[in-house]
Amino acid sequence: MLNESVINVKGIGDKLYESLVEMGISTIYDLLFYLPFRYDNYETKPLSELANGEKVTIEGKVIGEPSLTFYGRKKSRLVVNCQVEHTIVKGVMFNRAFAKKQMQDGDVVTLTGKWDQHRLQITISNYKKGNAKTQDPIQPIYPLKGTVTNRQLKKVIAQAIQQYGDQVEEILPDTYLQAYKLPLRAEALKQMHYPTNFQTLKHAKRRFIYEEFLLFQLKMQLLRKRNREATKGNTQNYDKNKVEYFISTLPFQLTNAQKQSLSEILRDMQSPNRMNRLLQGDVGSGKTAVAAISLFASVTAGKQGALMVPTEILAEQHYSSLLELFDEVAQVVLLTGSIKGKKRKEVLEKIKKREADIIIGTHALIQDEVVFPNLGTVIVDEQHRFGVKQRKTLRDKGINPDVLFMTATPIPRTLAITTFGDMDVSIINEMPKGRKEVKTYWAKESMLDRVLDFIEKEVNQGHQAYVICPLIEESDKLDIQNAVDLYHQLQATYEPTIKVGLMHGRLHADEKEAVMQQFAKNEVQVLVSTTVVEVGVNVPNATVMVIYDAERFGLSQLHQLRGRVGRGSSQSYCILLADPKGDVGKERMRIMTETTNGFELSEQDLQLRGPGDFFGSKQSGLPEFKVADVVHDYRALETARSDAQKIISQGILEIDPLYAKLYQLLESEVVFHGETLD
Ligand code: ADP
Ligand code: MG
Repeated sequence: MLNESVINVKGIGDKLYESLVEMGISTIYDLLFYLPFRYDNYETKPLSELANGEKVTIEGKVIGEPSLTFYGRKKSRLVVNCQVEHTIVKGVMFNRAFAKKQMQDGDVVTLTGKWDQHRLQITISNYKKGNAKTQDPIQPIYPLKGTVTNRQLKKVIAQAIQQYGDQVEEILPDTYLQAYKLPLRAEALKQMHYPTNFQTLKHAKRRFIYEEFLLFQLKMQLLRKRNREATKGNTQNYDKNKVEYFISTLPFQLTNAQKQSLSEILRDMQSPNRMNRLLQGDVGSGKTAVAAISLFASVTAGKQGALMVPTEILAEQHYSSLLELFDEVAQVVLLTGSIKGKKRKEVLEKIKKREADIIIGTHALIQDEVVFPNLGTVIVDEQHRFGVKQRKTLRDKGINPDVLFMTATPIPRTLAITTFGDMDVSIINEMPKGRKEVKTYWAKESMLDRVLDFIEKEVNQGHQAYVICPLIEESDKLDIQNAVDLYHQLQATYEPTIKVGLMHGRLHADEKEAVMQQFAKNEVQVLVSTTVVEVGVNVPNATVMVIYDAERFGLSQLHQLRGRVGRGSSQSYCILLADPKGDVGKERMRIMTETTNGFELSEQDLQLRGPGDFFGSKQSGLPEFKVADVVHDYRALETARSDAQKIISQGILEIDPLYAKLYQLLESEVVFHGETLD
């Protein structure tokens, strides 16, 4: 049985067993599916086919005695001449003096290392006595932890395959294997560990890539289906006339994309199933307007609506704008961590007594003390800033509220269908009319003086500017010090004619509020800030966004920051101050100056940085695949997704014996590490 302890594999003693467990390998299954993360290539090729500068393996005969020279302390250089085909090749090996004895005149050796075509020389990283056939040409390299070596792993995995390899059952229906020409699971597994050649390895990988994606997609879609089915009776009968009237009182016409998204949301709300929807849209595309209308719809259905945002500033900002918007028609309250004492009691009381229709707040909203008697809709802004856990707590609160997640980070399609596979998605891909594109420039830091002059010019025309401070990773303290320094510097440059303000995360909520108010009222013209202004802040009169150290930010984050300007009718500018070192950095700056479409940027960012970096390390909920890569293997992902859709919509997964193995694996903890399907 594959779920038995790995101790049953011959050759694993107590000590190795302990080390393996520490690596997360406790069952035979774990060991069998502990896959190499790369392969070393020891395939020999004729001299004429070796590429200069590449790592190659050659086989030859030692000619004469190798010469050994010492230099410095403990440093050595061994030179061995070998005959390869009809050519003498020079092999050079550093700091392995002991190898001299093993390479006698006339010995056949296999050498691996970097090839210098011009000098006919190989810098040896690996050597072996005997000809190349005595070792497998493709060597698996496993991820290692603790004291376990690659050699040990190779050995015990070989043993495990010998003892248990036959018990690895096929889980994919035959039709799939045939349609995609995929090898059987057991065979593919062997090939992953001991590839016959690169062709068969590729074949095996293809199988596991598809398998991983299919399982993942099936899981997501099954979750989605069960989520829908589990929530009968969640109908919000909103008042269509009131909602339409409310829309007509807005100072603008909704864009078609807004209308479309709104109708999808309202349909979910009215349906007996629980809404679990993601609303994606570029900064300024009008998501908040859609959110407000949805909350209002909830109120007309006699329910409460909550809007949860990541920062207090944002909560306050939304609060004051919604307060205005809902002037007479709904009671709006604010609940954040800094609302304390008597005031807090009052707010909690209002919520509990259903006097509050719309509740706006931060994480404070999901604390135990908050009792929602009648929660109809929850809207979570900037959802990727909330962890999976918070999402769940929120969902569990109230009576199955309809949940709408909003994000201004346009998520590449690739990630959207992996990360949000269990959600419905609405997209606002259109900007309100009359918006001017933000002109973006990239400036070297040496051009700072000109940038400062430019700010002054804009301010003299009645506009305002943001200056985002240098970013120091992993140090809040230094970040703030930087902000303070820059603030003083700009004060010295501009004051008294131009007033400079300072904003950072360590300010008290009321200080932040005061600064934002001053900026909103144009009492402050230049706002120095850390990235706390990244999301949601709306001051239409601001036309300049200067970002220090722009190369350190992700493209999506730069795009978010840029979205703080260009919100009014005047032409706006974004200036990226950056001296990027490498080509990728320069490329990223170039993309920023050329692209204002958030979805396009996010795709490019993903390509340049890879999915792990995309959300930053704190991002949760991004699935990890062992073999598959969401960017590289995108087409397989699409295929698996549509297959999963078919399987789930036909309802055959749970009942058709052909899918029994797949279903079993899906439900078991082997694949999803304890995450169960309910
Ligand atoms: P988001 O939340 O997507 O960043 P907002 O809803 O805050 O965008 O909208 C940005 C600005 O555009 C706000 O000032 C809002 O009043 C305005 N706005 C929203 N929808 C429209 C529209 N259809 N036409 C014109 N202006 C709009
Ligand atoms: Mg509903």
